Amino acid sequence: MKKENRPKRIAVLGATGSIGTQAIDIIERHPDLYRATVVSGGSRVGELAAVAARLRPRLAVIARRELLGELRRLLEPLGIKCAAGADALAEAASADDVDMVLTATVGYSGLAPTVAAIKAGKDIALANKETLVVAGDLVNSLLLHSPSKIYPVDSEHSAIAQCLAGEDKARVARLIVTASGGPFRTYPKSLIERVTPADALNHPNWSMGAKITVDSATMMNKAFELIEAHHLFGIEPEKITAVVHPQSIVHSMVEFTDGAIKAQLGVPDMRLPIAYALGCHRRLPSAARPLTLTDICSLTFEAPDYDRFPCLNLAKTAMERRGTCACTINAANEVAVAAFLDGRLGFTGIYRTIEATLQRASFVARPAYDDYVACNAESRAIANEFITKN
Ligand code: NDP
Ligand code: MG
Repeated sequence: MKKENRPKRIAVLGATGSIGTQAIDIIERHPDLYRATVVSGGSRVGELAAVAARLRPRLAVIARRELLGELRRLLEPLGIKCAAGADALAEAASADDVDMVLTATVGYSGLAPTVAAIKAGKDIALANKETLVVAGDLVNSLLLHSPSKIYPVDSEHSAIAQCLAGEDKARVARLIVTASGGPFRTYPKSLIERVTPADALNHPNWSMGAKITVDSATMMNKAFELIEAHHLFGIEPEKITAVVHPQSIVHSMVEFTDGAIKAQLGVPDMRLPIAYALGCHRRLPSAARPLTLTDICSLTFEAPDYDRFPCLNLAKTAMERRGTCACTINAANEVAVAAFLDGRLGFTGIYRTIEATLQRASFVARPAYDDYVACNAESRAIANEFITKN
């Protein structure tokens, strides 16, 4: 069948997560447009088997190798092939029966399959912002030699892409990335020091995976999104700013050189940007409830507070130093967030861990892929040691 006459074949990486589940909702609503040929998960083998049994992909991949036997027991009777480990995930992302890869795994794990997908010429619906944070320069240099295109899933970047449609990038004065401010937006420093994982997981507007929810609470997520915007849209760091908008209705804005500002508004429902990315920026009827502006009454905007949320400063650090700096920040953050969620580290210890790791980790100015791998491993070890000793 000709490509344009058959459903687009999607590899859903991170199919059991918050983004993955919402993407599958869209895929199931549009069987004429999409088919999942690959699904993957991290460690929740039962959830992965259940989603695979429903969608009947060719292949299911689990990250944790020791769970392959269990996955096979559940899925091979249904004729679904099973594989395990990071290499299998990268291989799956470049398979012949995949037209587009949705990278919705969490953290550093998104990098290898995204790189493999670009090398194989696949389009990418990118939820995993850590890929661009860690190795945006490498990803962009690979894209120069590949037909692949990246369609952002992150709501802010989807909004910016929508504002930029039909515009001349040379006329962009500023990207204005909105931030909800997270659950501690109004907390004084003394209270922020004492917050618990349960407090941090209680996001006011969005229901997301645990890691990104904690990143939203520290505002590390917004720092990552500024870096992500720089790599995605090729706009200079000094033209990319964050503004706190507690209602999460304006998903981001672009200011042009004539002073006009374009914004994209919508209810906070990730299925909107996911659908826009899966459709390569073609609009589909939405599953989300419509936005009724008269129900909202007011939209407010505040300057971010870099003192109470010091992680925000790390975007500038990363974009000034470049090289492996952001890879170190990401690795230390992943380790610190996991320790915070486990009760081994206080909330403000997340920033301290990143700072300490940045001071000690090696720095490579022009990293190749293997340098990122080494930097990630070294930075994680340093961060773990810091947390154990402090
Ligand atoms: P979740 O934690 O809900 O889901 C993560 C997915 O990745 C799960 O399928 C999980 O499997 C899998 N996974 C975990 N560890 C690994 C690993 N080492 N290797 C391969 N797969 C793994 O995360 P979210 O869906 O919230 O976020 C996914 C990505 O999307 C993140 O990069 C996040 O920053 C980004 N994003 C998320 C948004 C949201 O609204 N949730 C908004 C914007 C961006 P298992 O279930 O088995 O653990
Ligand atoms: Mg976002």
